[in-house]
Amino acid sequence: MICETLSVFPEVFEPYLGVSVLGRARRAGVFDFVAHDLRDWTHDRHRTVDDAPFGGGQGMLMKPEPLFEAVDDLSARGTRPHVVFFSPCGRRFDQRVAERLSREERLLFVCGRYEGMDERAYALADEVLSLGDYVLTGGELAALVVIDAVCRLLPGALGDEMSAVDESFSPAGLLEYAQYTRPASYRGMDVPEVLLSGDHARVAAWRRQSAIERTALWRPDLIDTADLTDEERARAQKIALRARRGEERPDGPAS
Ligand code: SAH
Repeated sequence: MICETLSVFPEVFEPYLGVSVLGRARRAGVFDFVAHDLRDWTHDRHRTVDDAPFGGGQGMLMKPEPLFEAVDDLSARGTRPHVVFFSPCGRRFDQRVAERLSREERLLFVCGRYEGMDERAYALADEVLSLGDYVLTGGELAALVVIDAVCRLLPGALGDEMSAVDESFSPAGLLEYAQYTRPASYRGMDVPEVLLSGDHARVAAWRRQSAIERTALWRPDLIDTADLTDEERARAQKIALRARRGEERPDGPAS
């Protein structure tokens, strides 16, 4: 897999993608990364990539020509990339999209800046992704988020092949179960007894219940599509109902 970015701030990627799991994965050849500078596809002395919007209004827009020339040029080199643009108007990025993208051979992420892009540039996109309902100053963070979520799924990236299996949103569609490390007792809070028992079957059953409970409490919207037995779903719905009535804490692990 090779991930490439096209942006006016190519230098922001390396510090993040050079460390920890992703840095190791890159050095091990699990994926490759190249940051392209959009200004390399400008032809004026100032290397201009933006211009004022037709019709007036504040701010500047990214001009279409450097974007078209860059994507055309990069697409002509080697395997045709799957081209991803970023915009708050795009489709919401989630784990399922990450899994789909992890099966591509070559990904090209095109990052906006300023007030966004000339609308015609989106003709270059195979898809447009949004991180969520808020506005960032640029697409670079969005690209980093997507690259991180996608590349950690690649075979060999996490070292322990199993670590991506039980995670939140993994195939069962549940949040991850609660986890603990030493000490077994801390500031009056005790680790559930069963986790200290060494009984693998009981631990597995407890984890399944924990995942269901947490999902019902914090993300009841996931219950309908989660992979649950009828009995589990009924229980989850009961917990979610109690949470809605304020009988359980509903706002996430830290609340
Ligand atoms: N004026 C635009 C926002 C432009 S923000 C609007 O109101 O829709 C500048 C760039 O940041 C965008 O082109 C996009 O690449 C990136 N960006 C901003 N918010 C984002 C989000 N929620 N998800 C993904 N990319 C985002």
